[in-house]
Amino acid sequence: MVTAANNQIREQSQPDRALNPLLGATLAELTTWVQQQGQPAYRGRQLHEWIYQKGVRHFSEISVFPKQWRSALTDVEIGRSNLHHRSVAPDGTVKYLLQLADGQIIETVGIPTEKRLTVCVSTQVGCPMACSFCATGKEGFSRNVARHEIIDQVLSVQEDFQRRVSHIVFMGMGEPLLNLDNVLPAIQSLNQDVGIGQRNMTLSTVGIPGRILDLAQHQLQITLAVSLHASNQVLREQLIPSAHRYPLKDLLAECRAYVQATSRRVTFEYILLAGVNDLPEQAAELAQMLRGFQSHVNLIPYNPIREADYQRPASRRIQAFANVLKQQQIAVSVRFSRGLEADAACGQLRASKLRR
Ligand code: SAH
Repeated sequence: MVTAANNQIREQSQPDRALNPLLGATLAELTTWVQQQGQPAYRGRQLHEWIYQKGVRHFSEISVFPKQWRSALTDVEIGRSNLHHRSVAPDGTVKYLLQLADGQIIETVGIPTEKRLTVCVSTQVGCPMACSFCATGKEGFSRNVARHEIIDQVLSVQEDFQRRVSHIVFMGMGEPLLNLDNVLPAIQSLNQDVGIGQRNMTLSTVGIPGRILDLAQHQLQITLAVSLHASNQVLREQLIPSAHRYPLKDLLAECRAYVQATSRRVTFEYILLAGVNDLPEQAAELAQMLRGFQSHVNLIPYNPIREADYQRPASRRIQAFANVLKQQQIAVSVRFSRGLEADAACGQLRASKLRR
């Protein structure tokens, strides 16, 4: 749903943003822009359609525009990335390395099923959080991904699959709550311009103090997924360095406030590492912690990365962990990541393909 509050996110975030690149601009902004160029207002709607629906890569390709105008505006960028590398896993998951205008490379994953095409979007080049089990953090942090670069990832997958993207997960490289200035307007644009429902979007965070509350204020309909990964503070600090500055009780209090403000259930993600956090006692402790919470737990069996020596638990241990939660009336699913063979699964994303 388009609300006034939603539109404000986009207009306030960069009030004097020059429209170059064009990707990320609203229909109103594009209409004003074409008028400033001495063109009739209806060209704004055409431009909007060619950028967001037809997925044009260069202004000069918009064949409904007068030739003279197209050739005059050679320095106007749409804001599309270049495909640097593409690999397909046996399960059909496609991993893309996309090269951005400054040469930086990010990973994007396209995950098809019969009914859905999901895009896993990166929000930072690298990641500063340095979680012990995740490949992205091992290469450090370079910069935030710009709003047009977030939208481009979705359009790039759509173009490659020749099929509409139905779902978006902000679960690629980076910590989205450290880049809300770009992530929020990108969500609005993906919703209003590309046409993907907010309820089909999930944002995953390890938790940054205060930011879940910030997000709650925007009253989005997206699903919030929180990377919990531990049933107590001591264990969480061992796995996630940033947990030192964010006690579990504060994180959970913010999650509760999020549920209150948005009436949306929160998803908790829990990576399963053999012998580390997969014991039945830990499942019981987790159940105790989440009792009465409007939530859903996604258990993610660990995907191996070469920089860490964790192991994925055996299937019966994964099942046993899930059963303890079920017995305690906690909604739970086991989520095996797709794309494992292409290094495209959760936690395996890194900018360099060379090190493989
Ligand atoms: N920074 C955000 C989003 C990126 S990671 C976050 O932390 O939530 C998306 C999910 O993949 C997170 O739950 C993350 O903890 C999980 N993940 C990271 N490394 C993994 C690995 N090696 N195996 C399985 N899941 C992993």
